[in-house]
Amino acid sequence: MKKMMALIAALALAVSLTACGGHCKSCDQPVYKDGYCEYHYILNSAQDALFG
Ligand SMILES: [Zn+2]
Repeated sequence: MKKMMALIAALALAVSLTACGGHCKSCDQPVYKDGYCEYHYILNSAQDALFG
C-alpha cells in the first residue's frame, strides 16, 4: 500500500496546484480534482492504480 500513499500525496500536491478552477484536461467538464472532471479523474486514478 506504499504506492497508494505516494499516489495520494502526489494527488494532494497536484490538487493544491490546480485547485483554481478551469476545465478538465481531457474534455470541457468543470474540474473535479487534479485538473480532471470527476469522470476523467476516476479514470486517470484507476489507470495509475493499475499501471502506475
Ligand atoms: Zn473530463
